[in-house]
Amino acid sequence: MKIVPIDGSYGEGGGQVLRTSLALSLVTGQPFEITNIRAGRKKPGLMRQHVTSALAAATIGGARMEGAAIGSDRLVFEPRTIQPGEYRFSVGSAGSCTLVLQTVLPALLIAGGESRLILEGGTHNPWAPPFPFLEKAFLPLVNRMGPQVTVELERPGFFPAGGGRFHVHVVPCRSLAPLELVDRGRTVGQRIVAVVSRLPRRIGETEIQAAADFLGWDPGGAEVVEVREPQGPGNALFLEMGFEQVTEVVTGFGQKGVPARNVGRRAAMEAAAFLASDVPVGPHLADQLMIPLAMAGKGRFRTTALTPHATTNIDVIRRFLDVGIHAAPSGNDAWEVAFSTAS
Ligand code: ATP
Repeated sequence: MKIVPIDGSYGEGGGQVLRTSLALSLVTGQPFEITNIRAGRKKPGLMRQHVTSALAAATIGGARMEGAAIGSDRLVFEPRTIQPGEYRFSVGSAGSCTLVLQTVLPALLIAGGESRLILEGGTHNPWAPPFPFLEKAFLPLVNRMGPQVTVELERPGFFPAGGGRFHVHVVPCRSLAPLELVDRGRTVGQRIVAVVSRLPRRIGETEIQAAADFLGWDPGGAEVVEVREPQGPGNALFLEMGFEQVTEVVTGFGQKGVPARNVGRRAAMEAAAFLASDVPVGPHLADQLMIPLAMAGKGRFRTTALTPHATTNIDVIRRFLDVGIHAAPSGNDAWEVAFSTAS
């Protein structure tokens, strides 16, 4: 089979070009060679999290691989047969292990049997899907397409200590059904959760109050989760917005030197922007939904302006799948992204 050449400096120029290539190489069986890996980043080349993703993909796909080492700017990946089953993948640092799942999940969704995975590393990282987003926003939509994926958090891992762990159970389906997400539907619930790990509870309480004040939400149902047996310090705030058709999760991360009030307010501003729009799909969900919808070969969603992650993902997907992806303006600052195949 012809090797698909991928230029890792393309578009967003980050780890997502590599992950989408690995994911779709497993799905289609097409080998690829990626050069200039993460050329758009301050520290280019593979980091630990990306090496773990590549090793995980190679394990599941029985692949021959060259260049999977920290710092490498080139990788060759030639998959053979997908082997669903029981696996444990550990990033070995606070690097995101939800991004490792993002790499191997597409192939497991349509594999010949069930899989059970244990993923270890960072579960609550900025610049990656935090576990609650995966559980509440992304996976329920994937499950609507046919497979049944359940996740369970054993313990969170924050930067810099890492040490988080979660479990995944994948019941696959033969092929993914199309998904249509044009309207979000009625509001069905809103919830605020603050997680504190080896930090005072009042940080979470302050964040919740600041977010609730800004959004005009009742803080009564909010919850501060204090991590038992914490691996290290960390803090995140989750604003869940439930609608009939979709749940959006906006995350704020506590940072040394940034008052908790500001963390709460900043996250609330992001949530308010989403609420003020009428789209069902937020910016992060948009780039992540593209792979399952492209695999289904049919479906559409409405979202806000496409991010560089989203446009880059569209281009990488087109290298592997013969699918039409059409993005067009659809109302106030909204875009509709539609997927179609010729047949
Ligand atoms: P690098 O960019 O340093 O190469 P990377 O491999 O960590 O790093 P990116 O290419 O930036 O990653 O991709 C990050 C992924 O995480 C994207 O799919 C993005 O939508 C998702 N993501 C980032 N922040 C959030 C968030 N707050 N909620 C949900 N998803 C997020």
